[in-house]
Amino acid sequence: MVCGLTSCLGSGAAGGLFSSAVQFFAATQCLVGETWPKDSVLQNGSRYDFIIVGAGTAGSALAARLSEVANFSVLLLEAGGDPPIEAIIPAFRETLKASSVDWNFTSVENNITSQALKRGIEQQPRGKMLGGTGSLNHMVYARGFPSDYHEWASIAGETWNWTNVLKYFMKTEHMTDTNIVNNPELMVYHGRGGAIEVSGTNEVMFSIKKFLQAFEELGFKTVPDMTYPNSIGAGCFSHTIRNGERDSSLRALLNNANSTSLHILKDAFVTKIIIENGTAIGIEAVKDDKKFLFYADREVILSAGTFNTPKLLMLSGVGPSEHLRSLGIDVVADLPVGSNLHDHVMVLAFLVADNGTCVSDEAENSMEAIKYLYDRTGFLAKADNMAAYLPLSSSEPTVPEFALYPTCIPQFSPFRSGCLTLGLNEDLCTELHNLNQEYELVTIAAVLLKPKSRGKVELNSINPFDDPLIYAGTFSEEQDLDHFPRLIKMAWSIADTNYFRSKNARVIKPWVEACSNLTESAWIKCMSRAMVTSAWHSVGTAAMGTVVDGDLKVLGINGLRVVDASVMPKIIRGNTNAPVVMIAEIAADLIKEHYSVSRTGTNLNNMTIGNLTASSMPNISQPNINLADVIENNDMINSSLIEVEITNVEIITTTDRQSDIDDTVNVA
Ligand SMILES: Cc1cc2nc3c(=O)[nH]c(=O)nc-3n(C[C@H](O)[C@H](O)[C@H](O)COP(=O)(O)OP(=O)(O)OC[C@H]3O[C@@H](n4cnc5c(N)ncnc54)[C@H](O)[C@@H]3O)c2cc1C
Repeated sequence: MVCGLTSCLGSGAAGGLFSSAVQFFAATQCLVGETWPKDSVLQNGSRYDFIIVGAGTAGSALAARLSEVANFSVLLLEAGGDPPIEAIIPAFRETLKASSVDWNFTSVENNITSQALKRGIEQQPRGKMLGGTGSLNHMVYARGFPSDYHEWASIAGETWNWTNVLKYFMKTEHMTDTNIVNNPELMVYHGRGGAIEVSGTNEVMFSIKKFLQAFEELGFKTVPDMTYPNSIGAGCFSHTIRNGERDSSLRALLNNANSTSLHILKDAFVTKIIIENGTAIGIEAVKDDKKFLFYADREVILSAGTFNTPKLLMLSGVGPSEHLRSLGIDVVADLPVGSNLHDHVMVLAFLVADNGTCVSDEAENSMEAIKYLYDRTGFLAKADNMAAYLPLSSSEPTVPEFALYPTCIPQFSPFRSGCLTLGLNEDLCTELHNLNQEYELVTIAAVLLKPKSRGKVELNSINPFDDPLIYAGTFSEEQDLDHFPRLIKMAWSIADTNYFRSKNARVIKPWVEACSNLTESAWIKCMSRAMVTSAWHSVGTAAMGTVVDGDLKVLGINGLRVVDASVMPKIIRGNTNAPVVMIAEIAADLIKEHYSVSRTGTNLNNMTIGNLTASSMPNISQPNINLADVIENNDMINSSLIEVEITNVEIITTTDRQSDIDDTVNVA
């Protein structure tokens, strides 16, 4: 391709960011790019073993893993199209929100919380494109903590215990963060050679260094690995970035999937699951204004995310009977679909400080574009994020309950547009924008990681193209709000640390009319109630234990699973993308096992069965061997003695032999 202005002009979401935007995009369209999976040519009414709805974080990983099995046929439908170039360049992540690749969901106004946000509602961005929200998110790599998964295991069974989920986190991971790879104590918990790169460096931005010093002065330990399960503190996150470009389950897994068994349909909006006699047999979809039916011989799998998965279930008759009947929908299964919605909740604290506090020598340097195009380095290649984790009390020092995420905003930043995208109202954004003309701003997002409050998702109507109603339920439990005076005061105390004091940092209390004339703690609670917003990690609307079982099968319906963030019974203490990939990896193995296919990466050479080792088994080194054959041909099987290790070996499939495996072995 000739890289000239006319041939390479982009049509992405971020146009106009730099004065030299046109030239920059002209160049990047040639130099930064990806060959996305092509649309398949499909017959209306065709049949597949598996139909997956949604090519987001979970759907992309799951489709890729299932397509590893040569004789599985998989159809993956995605409502959006190819991601724009801004979904590749890390520094442009903010421009994807409120763009055409965002579903642009919002919560329903409740007249109580978020009243200082525009229209009294919380913004709920979600990716509508290949890769879903994984193509739009901030690329922070987090997992939650062991106690999160102890909780899951107590609800949904031992598949979800920490020891097991850790294996799956490590399976997908290719850790290259220099803060971690050289530390054997940390590397015990990380994988190398997995599909998704998790990178990082100790060359952090100036302001991040200053925040880390500030948190140290406030008594936080600086930790080299924010996912380390044995201690918490303040530190920089690792990110899913490979060579200065976003990495994701789309780019690392789906883009490399087996194209013969996998069929992908983009811009295909699934409107209903077809359920007959208690079995999901297919889906209805609309593409290019035409209706299509596709049939699943084995399973329909919903990976449409926390808001769209419950919507599809309810449109198909699976949900709370009263709500469905009120809309005239025939009830197929009466389940609490849509309830248990919860999210990390976020309130911003603000400081102002002298110019030069943030020392942003990076963002406005026009050399940055050239640097990026030359070797994928510099500001554009990064997503510097840090946080300080706080426990609820000193008796649980390794379990964070809250997080503080600081950001330094240089004078004259294009803060206003980000402020509005976040959902703050015009007056607040104008007030903060005006302050930023005079000072540098420090925002500290105070986040509650384990809220007790619950909301729900309901149908707006029976029209599948209507957005679902999202009742956020924020602070429906008053105890959640009670934490904020302590949290916000902790955030404010950054102003009293050496560096920020030397820059004359001081607290700014934005004007919230309803909160005037209150004492400090009362003001913080009032302001928090008024300014609270989602931290974009909604989960739980088709939860394990109530809507799906521990194998992610929808209760009472055959051939229907949910594999995405909505199955989390309780939110984990951290960002949710890697946990969703982990859920998809486990789901893929559960499905392969269910249909008697050996797990991905089962290394038969590392296996012992009874007193036989792999090498002593006559046929073990032969190609085309599979776990089911090995088991069937040995009468010395002791299920507890099977050891499996993860490496890349070819998958061989056997079908219809489920009972052989299910009844006799328990693959660890
Ligand atoms: C702004 C933002 C920043 C975030 N930052 C981070 C971060 O830094 N780190 C982190 O760990 N997590 C982050 N998250 C959260 C994380 O990205 C999500 O939890 C995760 O991507 C959810 O994955 P999912 O598979 O459940 O849903 P999604 O990735 O949203 O996938 C759902 C897919 O289904 C498609 N779909 C929906 N309905 C239909 C339909 N009817 N027909 C066909 N297709 C359909 C959608 O278009 C989408 O592609 C962030 C989230 C947001 C919103």
